[in-house]
Amino acid sequence: MEQNNDGSLSQVRHVVLVLSGKGGVGKSTITTELALALRHAGKKVGILDVDLCGPSIPRMLCVGRPDVHQCDSGWVPVYTDAQKSLALMSIGFLLEDPDEAVVWRGPKKNWYAVLQLYWSLTLFIDLFSMIGQFVSDVAWGELDVPAGGHAARGRPMNICQYWRISKNTEWMVPVLVTTPQSTGDVRREITFCKKTGVRILGIVENMSGFVCPHCSECSNIFSKGGGEELAKLTGSMFLGSVPLDPLLSKSIEEGRDFTESFPDSATFSAIS
Ligand code: ADP
Repeated sequence: MEQNNDGSLSQVRHVVLVLSGKGGVGKSTITTELALALRHAGKKVGILDVDLCGPSIPRMLCVGRPDVHQCDSGWVPVYTDAQKSLALMSIGFLLEDPDEAVVWRGPKKNWYAVLQLYWSLTLFIDLFSMIGQFVSDVAWGELDVPAGGHAARGRPMNICQYWRISKNTEWMVPVLVTTPQSTGDVRREITFCKKTGVRILGIVENMSGFVCPHCSECSNIFSKGGGEELAKLTGSMFLGSVPLDPLLSKSIEEGRDFTESFPDSATFSAIS
């Protein structure tokens, strides 16, 4: 595992934000799979995991909890592969204890963040200002596409503002993740995007049906099509649906083996 010592957000040209209206719908999963798909397509990709409530992408990518450090231009992300094609920075790397979300590791390095965090928690000022600082404090180096600033509940679109601080960013597009049943939460994000002139790349319906591990047949145990319907209603592009797949879940829980080739997935090909 290597770390990148040069560069900053200024060399990041394209940003895909993976957002949803609530937790547990698959943002981390989609972010990880999207990054792997882009990497598979030959892009240099970075993932910024800013899920304050449960940063899980390091586990999905078998990265664990490395000791991250700072260079002149900010926190140094971790490369997850020998080819240096996938960089990761997670808010989880800065926590003392992953089960006790929110005490930064190495606080002496960044008293301002600690102070902000303390204020955010005690006075309910603004947790997202902390995320903003985090976004601009990572030394990404040169990347084609950083996939997924990934915001949890609350005001996810705030994160758009922070990515915009890089004047060299050519485009920044949100991908909205929904489940078939919980489209109402995402609808608010779409309205917000439209009002603020942010162009949405599209909508992914996750947990859409269930793939039987024995016969591989997909059954619609709940409902299906909510994401596609929402896309039509809101004039957004429907990028595709991802079924509940025990094999995907297992690979996510156990971590991804980077030597295996990327599965043939219409959804992720469409996104990339
Ligand atoms: P979020 O980041 O929105 O909180 P996660 O990506 O962590 O959600 O997913 C929540 C849980 O659902 C995880 O345990 C993950 O393994 C599982 N999961 C998400 N999408 C799928 C899927 N398509 N098939 C199987 N399990 C999934």
